[in-house]
Amino acid sequence: MQTTFGTGQPGRENADLAFTDPLTGLGNHRRFYDKVDRLISDRADDPAPFTVGILDLDGFKPINDLFGHKAGDDILIQVAMRLRASMDGYSTVCRIGADEFAFLYPMVFSEEQAAEKSRMLIEILSAPYDVGERTARLSASVGCSLFYSGDETTEILINKAETALYHAKRSGRGRVVVYTREMEEAAKRVTRIEQALRRAVSAGEVEPHFQPIVDLTSRRTIGFETLARWTDRDLGMVPPSVFIPIAEERGIIGPLSQLVLRKATEAARNWPKDLFLSFNLSPSQLVDQNTGLHILAILDRTGFDPRRLEIEITETGLMTDPASAEKIVEDLRRVGIRVSLDDFGTGQSSLGRLREFHFDKLKIDRAFVSSILEDRPSEHIIRAILAMCEGLGMDVVAEGIEEEAQADRLVQFGCAGGQGYLFGKPVDADATLGYLRDSYRGALRAKAI
Ligand code: C2E
Ligand code: MG
Ligand code: MG
Repeated sequence: MQTTFGTGQPGRENADLAFTDPLTGLGNHRRFYDKVDRLISDRADDPAPFTVGILDLDGFKPINDLFGHKAGDDILIQVAMRLRASMDGYSTVCRIGADEFAFLYPMVFSEEQAAEKSRMLIEILSAPYDVGERTARLSASVGCSLFYSGDETTEILINKAETALYHAKRSGRGRVVVYTREMEEAAKRVTRIEQALRRAVSAGEVEPHFQPIVDLTSRRTIGFETLARWTDRDLGMVPPSVFIPIAEERGIIGPLSQLVLRKATEAARNWPKDLFLSFNLSPSQLVDQNTGLHILAILDRTGFDPRRLEIEITETGLMTDPASAEKIVEDLRRVGIRVSLDDFGTGQSSLGRLREFHFDKLKIDRAFVSSILEDRPSEHIIRAILAMCEGLGMDVVAEGIEEEAQADRLVQFGCAGGQGYLFGKPVDADATLGYLRDSYRGALRAKAI
C-alpha cells in the first residue's frame, strides 16, 4: 500500500489514509476530486484542455459471485496495478467505487487522444487474471469528458464523464464514449420522458392497442397481440420503441405492464372465447420473481381465462438470468398460459435455447418477412425455421406482413400464422370490438350463403 506508515507524521498519515483506497492502495474518490480541483485552478490562466475519464468493469459482479469475494478483491488489486503501471508521470488513476476507477490526463488535449488512451486501458485490462488455479477475463467501459473552460467545476466534469460512461455501457461491453453536448440533450429528454411516463402510469393513461393475428390460409382472426400506446399532453405520441426501453431502465416497466395487462384483459374478456390475447414481457420482468404473481392476480381480478393468454418473450429476456426466467415461465405455464418466442432470428438467437426451453409458439421477425420476396437468404432462413418448428411441435407466426405476395409465399412454405398491416394495424379496444363485429357479421353472412 502506498500510505505513509512510519513517516513519524501522524497528522499526515491520517490525511493520507483518508485519501487512499485501502484495498488497492490507489487514491480514492476524495483524492480524485482534489486532483481535478487543483488542476482546474492551475489552468485558470492557461486554458489548455485536459481529460477526465471513468472506467467501469463490465460484468464484475458475476465474477465476484462465481469466484467469491476474496477472488474479486484479488482481481481488483490486479486491475489497479495494471492501471497504475499504464499511467505516465503526469497522470493519475484512483478507485472511486467498487469496480469504478477514474483517471486524470492533464496532457490529453483532444477527444481523439482521450478515446485512444481509453481504448489502451481497456486493452490492458482485457488480458486474463489469475484467480488461484483458474483465470478470469474482464472487459471495461470508459466515459470521458474534456475540460475546456474555467466555468466548469470538478463536479460538472465528472458528471459528464458519468453520462458518457452510461452511453458506453448501453452500447455494449468494452466501449469508449467521449462526452458531447448532444448527449446532454438526450439525457435531458430521457429524464423528461421518464417523469411524464411515471405520471401517466399512475394516472392510468397508457392504453392497450390490439393487432390481429390470423390463420394465413383462411384469413380468420385467431387472436390479438397487445401493444402499449401512450400519448402525453406535452410530448405528444411517444412510440413504444422509445418509452418501453426507458420504462425498463428506470424501473417503471412493472407498473406499466400491470396497467396495460389489466386494461387489455378487461377488454378481451368480452371477445369470442376462441380468440387468444398475447402480451409482451420485457427482459427485466423475467428477472423479477413477482412478475408471475402480478400476472396471476390481474387475471384473477379481471376474470380472464389464463388459457387464453400468451406471453411473448425474447431471447434477450432469457439470457440475463435463465434460471429466474424459467421459474417465472413455469409458474405461468402451470395455469395454462402459453409462451411464445418473439422476434426470432434477430439478436442473439441460440438454437441451444430451443432445446432447453419449451416454447408453444415462435414468431419470425419482420426483418425476414419484409425481404422474403427479394432476398434468397431470407427465404431459406424462413423455410428452415418452419421446418424446425414443425419438428419441435411449435406453432409459428410470421410478423410484419404488409403485402399479399408475402402472405402467399408464406402459405406456400407452410407457415400457418401471420400478423402485419396487411391484416390490420394495432387499434384501440373500441375499434377492435368494431373489427370483431364486422368480421363475425361477415362470417355469419358467408355461412348463410
Ligand atoms: P413486438 O412485440 O415485436 O411487436 C410488433 C411490432 O411490429 C409492433 O410495433 C407493431 O406495431 C409492429 N408491426 C406489426 N405489423 C407490422 C407491419 O406490417 N409493418 C411494420 N412496419 N410494423 C409492424 P410497436 O407497437 O411499435 O412495438 C414495438 C415493440 O415495443 C414491440 O415489438 C414490443 O417489443 C414492445 N412493446 C410494445 N408494447 C409493449 C408492452 O406492453 N410491454 C412490453 N414489455 N413491450 C412492449
Ligand atoms: Mg411481440
Ligand atoms: Mg415481435
